[in-house]
Amino acid sequence: MIAHDCELERHDGRKRLELSFQAALASEYKGATQKIRILTEHWVSSQVYCPNCGHVSITQYKNNSPVADFFCSNCREDYELKGYKRAFGTKVVDGAYRTMMERLSASNNPNLLLMEYDHIRLEVRSLSVIPKQFFIPDIIEKRKPLSSGARRAGWVGCNIRLSTIPNAGRIVLIKNGIVESPKDVIAKWRQTLFLRHQKDLRSKGWLLSIMGCIDKIQNRTFLLHDLYGFEQELMAIYPENRHIRPKIRQQLQVLRDMGYLIFLGNGTYQLAAPTGQNAPMEQDTASTESM
Ligand SMILES: [Zn+2]
Repeated sequence: MIAHDCELERHDGRKRLELSFQAALASEYKGATQKIRILTEHWVSSQVYCPNCGHVSITQYKNNSPVADFFCSNCREDYELKGYKRAFGTKVVDGAYRTMMERLSASNNPNLLLMEYDHIRLEVRSLSVIPKQFFIPDIIEKRKPLSSGARRAGWVGCNIRLSTIPNAGRIVLIKNGIVESPKDVIAKWRQTLFLRHQKDLRSKGWLLSIMGCIDKIQNRTFLLHDLYGFEQELMAIYPENRHIRPKIRQQLQVLRDMGYLIFLGNGTYQLAAPTGQNAPMEQDTASTESM
């Protein structure tokens, strides 16, 4: 499974992870945007481990690959980096809307690394990763086309609606300068790999909706009755579905079968602790790159 325990332990010694950028690297670059891009990209390739397999580092693609910014040389996962100098709110701005929508069903859709940095102190504040299996059309929001006066008039960008992604799909590596244990990060990552086997985006949408409802209960243990409380909300998302309650029960069964939930009996459920044990083995995930 995770073949890099010794490498992980190096990461677990928290002193090793350096949050500061190497400012000298950007001295020969002129623009502020270019400088920060150089610094953040260098920081990722020198400090960030692969959350999929635990490999000690991820490698930057050369020559501005259109596919992704980084890849893992061990498991071949792809990562895209988005850096922001402010804390993200409920949504973040991403690239072209059409490209994002086309990528959703492509095999090379990358995982998204979201970084918040301090541009005065030149250091990372927070870093999280959204695994690619959480990207469905519902989370991509079309922006207004750029106005006719703009250099790229008519170009349509998109936002990623972070607020619609279940907690399990927003994996924190660093928060406000505090580094999370890589073992916990990898366990959380593995807990939702089952979603990659869900090829139909609509079916996956249902699972993600139910996971989001469970988050809103804000309790690891909950009742079927609690989830029925979201019936109206789900009906608004899936107006063509006339059988919301049976659908909720069916989705809970899928989540139980995948090890995401535990049935305690009498209509009581519990979120499973992320251990990664129920996730597909590494060779399985390598052969199911598409989503
Ligand atoms: Zn890897």
